[in-house]
Amino acid sequence: MGIIKKFKSLLHDDWCSNCQIQMTENYKQLFMLPMSVGHYISHKNADYYKKNLVKVNSKKEIPISIYACGIKKYRCSKCGKSLVQLSIFLPVRDQEKYEETIYYKNGELDTFIEDNRKI
Ligand SMILES: [Zn+2]
Repeated sequence: MGIIKKFKSLLHDDWCSNCQIQMTENYKQLFMLPMSVGHYISHKNADYYKKNLVKVNSKKEIPISIYACGIKKYRCSKCGKSLVQLSIFLPVRDQEKYEETIYYKNGELDTFIEDNRKI
């Protein structure tokens, strides 16, 4: 394992830390996070997101001054390890003001993702 490859996995969130290869994105969905600007509270518990996220089709469905949360799931094709990334941002006109990025590495949101995949 070369030192450059090892270094890359630290820089790239979507690299598998076991295999040092890029993982495959297999889920991507936008949600509304019902918190308004100026009242943002950082939550690390996956249960909070399971209860509060509302699935939307585009940023246009999110009211002004309300946060958005993009969820992406990555899977390593070699070892099967998966990673869920939550990007929380405030849509401001045509821009995205990033507030926080949260990672779940132990399948905390897997059932939530599967339930939202069906609908
Ligand atoms: Zn792997």
